[in-house]
Formats: sequence, structure tokens, C-alpha cells
Amino acid sequence: MAKMYHTQMEAARLGVVTPELEAVAQKEKRTVEELLALMAAGKVVIPANPGHRGLDPNGIGSMLTTKINVNLGVSRDVADYDAEMDKVMDAVNLGTHAIMDLSSHGNTQPFRRKLCTECPAMIGTVPVYDAVIHYQRDLGTLTARDFIDVVRLHAEDGVDFVTLHCGITRNTIAQIKGNARKMNIVSRGGSLVFAWMSMTGEENPFYEYYDEILDICREHDVTVSLGDACRPGCLADASDICQIDELVRLGELTRRAWAKDVQVMVEGPGHVPLNQVAANMQIQQTLCLGAPFYVLGPLVTDIAPGYDHITAAIGGAAAAMNGAAFLCYVTPAEHLALPNREDVRQGIIASRIAAHAADIAKGVPGARDQDDRMGDARRALDWEAQFAEALDPETARAIRDSRAPEDDHSEACSMCGKFCAVRSMNKALSGEIIDIL
Ligand code: SF4
Repeated sequence: MAKMYHTQMEAARLGVVTPELEAVAQKEKRTVEELLALMAAGKVVIPANPGHRGLDPNGIGSMLTTKINVNLGVSRDVADYDAEMDKVMDAVNLGTHAIMDLSSHGNTQPFRRKLCTECPAMIGTVPVYDAVIHYQRDLGTLTARDFIDVVRLHAEDGVDFVTLHCGITRNTIAQIKGNARKMNIVSRGGSLVFAWMSMTGEENPFYEYYDEILDICREHDVTVSLGDACRPGCLADASDICQIDELVRLGELTRRAWAKDVQVMVEGPGHVPLNQVAANMQIQQTLCLGAPFYVLGPLVTDIAPGYDHITAAIGGAAAAMNGAAFLCYVTPAEHLALPNREDVRQGIIASRIAAHAADIAKGVPGARDQDDRMGDARRALDWEAQFAEALDPETARAIRDSRAPEDDHSEACSMCGKFCAVRSMNKALSGEIIDIL
């Protein structure tokens, strides 16, 4: 029997329960009816290109568990595709839900196809980066048709979501020139679209031919991730006219995608002071009618290169608690270099902490269970149980073992030894004598 739907959104609108929706409902402890309604309204997306064999589907929506994305891909200076594939599998094992392939060197298609064959996480790409590499021609010589063909190529390769910088237009050129931003445009894709418009004098092809691109996305069920070309690149530029004006347009583009049953996420900031994070989430939810918000940070201070996984985790937790559904990880190498394996690991752990903290705060069913088990294990001074509940058991065990208490049989740790409050309370409450000296 022919498939009755093109996209997961269309299926939900027709009341069809897809295998992907069923799997997500189970993972999220939701009924299929609840999820069908959220999908039909665009508040949840399940990026799942049928061409991505072996995908482990996940739902993205503010009321579901917060998902995380890992950016990988080779660059001209660090161009080892095998090493990049090792990082991909590390990232999957560490719990990422999505991989964005941002490769910007060499023949990108074999790696992209390998990802869509072997990687169970959702795969995202940014076709505008790939256009220059694919055609091996300078930006100014590319045509609108070339960009659209690259979107089709990625869709045919099995990519689950694509970032499209549709929200900037020729008006943005005057806006950027007239608003004296400290950091102008820091989005890689956004800067390419801006440069192409400046060189050719033409309108943004991702905006001008949006309907044609939506048809491609509908045909392959590729979720559109509306890129935020004008996301602030420093605190001084946060929530300015360029950012908000683009967000208004992203709201309009969200509606146009939904009219064709195309799934949509909206990308967000960026560098944002902590006190502006919640407002940013609320504005997006209003302007984009609850479409899932995918945030790139937000980084809550500009002065911590080397530690931006922490600045992003602080902002990410606040964002997800206030409505963001999907966090793009940030590594300690952000603003400095292509992340290595250890940077990737640090970035993922930081993002997972942010996502989990937010899930507890927003009351996702079952989100706190593991924390409650950890509390019990700590009270019982049961170290094996504590490692079992730890987000990164290897690191927790290594730290304890490297500074073990003098007495091998001590239930406590080397922080307080016999002054261990937990041990003292356990003994006091069970009427035992507390021996300290
Ligand atoms: S020794 Fe101190 S830090 Fe270690 S488990 Fe006991 S109370 Fe906690």
C-alpha cells in the first residue's frame, strides 16, 4: 500500500500513527494521542528522513525532554574524516541526539552519506556551507539554482534537518550597516548569504525560492531549521533590532512551512546576558507560535574562551527551563579551534547537565528519578550505586580512586574522612557511637 503521507507532520494531521511517533511516545512517556496533537500543531517535530536508515527517532518540543546536538565535520586545517567519524560515534555513546555535519573541506558527500547510513542520531547540515565545496567555485559565481540543488542533494542523501538562513533579506544589509553592531553577523551560514547578496545584488535565494525549497523538504520529510543569521555574537548585540526583525520573519516562514506540512524548528541566540534569556524564549514562542526553539548557547558572558562549554550550559539551562527544546552543544574550543575528542566530550557532558537540569525544573515526567536514586545512594554511602547513577561514571570513579581515603575500608571519601556528615548522621540516627579520633 502506498504511504499516505509525506511528512511526520502530515501524518499527524491525518491522524496516522507512524512507527517514529510511536517510538517517541514510548521514550517520552506520552500517549500517542497527546503527541499526535502536538505534532499536528507544529509544537513537536520528529526529524526523520526516510532515507536515513537506522535512525533512532527523537521528538523535539519544549514539553518533551530537552535534546542536544553536536556539531562536527572537517575543516581545511583539520581534514581527517576517519577521526571525525570516531568523534561522531563517541558523541552518540555519550548521549547526543543529533549530529550536525558542518564539514567545509574536501568531498563532503561520502561522509554525509556514511552518517546517514551508520549514525543512529538525527543528522543535520547547513547546505549553504556545502555549496562552495560541492561546486568548487567561489561564492560570487554561484547561482540561486546552485543553492537549491544542494538542498535537494542533502535531502536525497538522507539528512533529517537542514539549517536554512531564510530570514535575512536585502533589507538586512542596510539594517546591519545602519545599526553599528559590535560583532556584525557571526553565523557562518548567515555571513555567506549576506556576502552572496552583497556581491550579486540579488535577494537571498533561500528566502526568494522558499516555496520551492519547502517542496523538496516535503518530498523527503526534511525538517527545516530556520537559521538565525543575525544571532548576537556578543552580549552588546543581544536582543537588538537585527535579531528581533529576523525572528519576526522566521515566524512568518514557520507558518508558510506548516501550510505545506513541513516540520520546522527555529534557531536562536547566541550570546545573551542571563537576565535576557527568558524574555528571548518567550518572544520566540509568541512570534513562532510554539515551534520548537533550537538555541546555540546562549553564552551568558563573552570573556571565558576555553570555558565556553560552561558559559553555554548556564545559558542553555535557563533557556530550556523557559521554553527552548533543543540545545546545540558548545565545547571549550569554541571561538578558538576545531574541537578535538576531549573537547567534544566536555561539550556534550556540559550540555547534558544543562538539558537535565532544565527537564527537572520544567517537570518532565520522570526527569528527577535518577537524582532521587543518587540521593539514596549518597545517604547509604554506596559508592558503586553512586557511580551507576552518575552522568559520567568514569570520571567520578577516577576522581575518587585518585584520592582514596587512607583507610581502604572507609565508607566516606577523602574530603572529610571521619568528619563525614553522612556517616555521622547515619550513626547518630541509628543510635551508634560516632568515633572521630
Ligand atoms: S566525607 Fe564529606 S564529602 Fe565525602 S561523602 Fe562524607 S560528607 Fe560527603
